[in-house]
This record gives sequence, structure tokens and C-alpha cells, in this order.
Amino acid sequence: MTMYDPYQNMLHVLDEAASVLKLHKDEYAFVRYPERELTVSLPIRMDDGHVQVFEGYRVQHSSVRGPAKGGVRYHPNTDINETRALAGWMTIKCAVANIPYGGAKGGIRVDPQCLSDRELERLTREYTYRISPIIGTDIDVPAPDVGTNAQIMAWIVDEYSKLRGKYTPGVVTGKPIEIGGSLGRNEATGRGIMYTLMSYLETTGKKPCDITMAAQGFGNVGSVGCLLMKRAGINIVAIGDIGRSLYNPNGIDIEKAYAYANSHGRSLDGYQEEGMQVIPKGDVLHLDVDVLFMAAMENQLNAATMEGVKAKLILEGANGPTTNEADTYFYKHGIEILPDVMTNAGGVVGSYYEWVQNRTGFYWTEEEYNKKLQANMRKTFQTVWQVKEKYHVSARLSCYIIALSRIVAAQNYRGFLG
Ligand code: GLU
Repeated sequence: MTMYDPYQNMLHVLDEAASVLKLHKDEYAFVRYPERELTVSLPIRMDDGHVQVFEGYRVQHSSVRGPAKGGVRYHPNTDINETRALAGWMTIKCAVANIPYGGAKGGIRVDPQCLSDRELERLTREYTYRISPIIGTDIDVPAPDVGTNAQIMAWIVDEYSKLRGKYTPGVVTGKPIEIGGSLGRNEATGRGIMYTLMSYLETTGKKPCDITMAAQGFGNVGSVGCLLMKRAGINIVAIGDIGRSLYNPNGIDIEKAYAYANSHGRSLDGYQEEGMQVIPKGDVLHLDVDVLFMAAMENQLNAATMEGVKAKLILEGANGPTTNEADTYFYKHGIEILPDVMTNAGGVVGSYYEWVQNRTGFYWTEEEYNKKLQANMRKTFQTVWQVKEKYHVSARLSCYIIALSRIVAAQNYRGFLG
């Protein structure tokens, strides 16, 4: 049995895109390999006095179209392989959204829930120190991802600024507003997902109020996404987080669930409402709904789970929730996927706006920010749909075709070394 390898998943679609574009392998070989990978050891004195050594990573997949860009993940299962795939997906995502970045990703193999705030701060500062030679406003710009947040970004800014001897807010995005973060960035990923779904419904002549949805994942992306889609008229009948899945055939009261999760450490544990039942965790994927919103982790829709899916549309909020095998299966069975690299790009597009504001020192209102985000998401969707129809391919392959042609064009202008 071959082990699930997310980077191979990425390459598989990339090669398909190259074949549609009739690119010779020499013309895009550089995109198949990450430019730079760094593994660091992070010895931390824990609160009880003992020293624990964590492992951290930063992978710069591409800097052809601009500085490498991508989040930092704190998760017990993170490893170099996952980080590499996530970095590759960032390269594709930034190119599809047409923002001037390459792709990167970082991570630490740690369960942040098991650390005190002091330990988390020490770990973050040590990580920043270790990766500092390769990050920077014009080089590689980290951001939040699973298990990290604005506070962690603030520690990165502080540590990096001390090392460089000057305040450098543009070295990371997703910061608190007080130190150069953007109004709107925290909701940008969920908001972008909502805009993308609305573009899709418009294009296919469907109304939000006729749509039912089940959601897996209720972290930042899942909860904000659900809240905004609910406000746009979608009937969300099920939500699941890491602990439990909740089903209410009459529709979950998302405003209430959102407020509950926010005041209970982002957990739905103990959440109650009338008519709602707790269902086995995996069942959320197989409910009879129109849209399945994937907002947890990669590798969720795979050979073992794909056949039970009844939804006709899969909305990818997480990165890489669908394996190649499941992707092919859904394509054959007429199940449409709005893929991660288009659908969740609102996060990094929002990061781009934050970075622009940091560089110019001129700050926008939340309305301006959201308006620009909406325009970008809409344009991206329309481009993806045009290319999809032109080549008769899935939306995912369309994204890779667009991204690859932009990356190759940029590299051709810059020229090949060696
Ligand atoms: N972690 C987010 C993503 O996977 C945002 C990355 C960023 O803003 O750089 O797209």
C-alpha cells in the first residue's frame, strides 16, 4: 500500500496541467521541486524546568512571482512532507489569485493546546530566530494557519524586529490590528469562501436559500465561513469539529453556535439547541445535503470515505481535503469541487492587502478591504470557470493550468540560470 503523500497529490495535478498546456517537462521542471527547505531544532525550557526539543520547518516552494508566502502550522502531525505540500499549494494559490507572491509554508510539530502561553511564546521566538536567515518582508512572509493566531504573529514580528534592529511589521501577516494587522484579515478566508460560493451559485443559476450544507471543521475558517454563508441565506444543517458532529434537519443556529465556540476555546463541546442531535463524527461527510463544506484538514475525502458522499458540490475551505483518488471519483460521478487553491485564497489575498498597507504605511477601512477582496475572489472565480470550460476540465485542473502558465511565463521573462 502506498502511503498518502500530499506532495505527490500536488505533482499529479501539476503534471496534468502541463500536459493540457503541452509544456515540455524541461519548461516546468523547476515548479516540481521546492526551492529551499529548512528543518530546525527548537530546544525549549518548559515551565517545570526540563528541556524539550521540538522540530520546526520552513519550506519555500517558489519565489518566481514574488516573495515566498504562506502560513505556519502548529500541529502534532506536522512534518516536512506535509509542509512541502502546503508550500506547493501556496504557490498555486497565489498564482491563481494573481497576487505577486510565490509559495511557502512552515510548521512546528507540537500540540499547542498542551503548552502554556509562556511556553508557546518561547517556542515561537526560538522558531523565528532559527528561520530568520530566510524570512523577510521581500523574501518570505509567514502568516497564521492551523494552530496559530494573531498573537503568535505578534511574537514573530517582535523577535524578528529585535534581530534586525528595526520594527518590521511586513515580515508576517495576520497580525493584531494594534501592530499593523488589517481590519478584515481575520475573517478573510471565510469571507472569500462565501464570495466564491456566491459566484458559483450565480453562474449556475441557483439561489442560496435553496441550498443545504454540512460542514466539517469549525475553527477560524469553518466557523467564519459558516457564519457568513448562513447570513447569505444558506441552510447549514450539520457542523462538526474535532470533538463532535451536530445535526439539525431544520438548520443549525449558526450565530448561536459561533458565539458559543468563540467563548469556549473554539470548541462546540456542550453546545445545545432544540431539534439538534449529536451524530457519529464521520457521518457529517455523508449527509444528504447539496454542499459539503470541508474546513478541517487534508486527506479527509479519500478512498475510504468518498463513496458515501451525497452532496453534489464540495467546497474546499481546508488545504488538500481531497486526495487524487477521491478527486477522480467525484469528477466521474459529476460531483463538482470548488478547490482549495481558489476557494480559500481569501486568506492570502487578505494577507497581501495587509502587507501592502504595512509597506505603504497607509491603512484602509474594513469596507475598502472587503470590497477589494470580493473583487479579487469574483475575478478569480470567473477566470477559473472560463478556463475550465475552454479545456473541459475540473475546476482544480483549471486552477493549476492558470497557475502554471503564469509561473512559467514569469520564469521565462526572468530567464533560467544554470
Ligand atoms: N494559511 C493560509 C493559507 O493556507 C493563509 C496564508 C497566508 O496568508 O500567507 O492560505
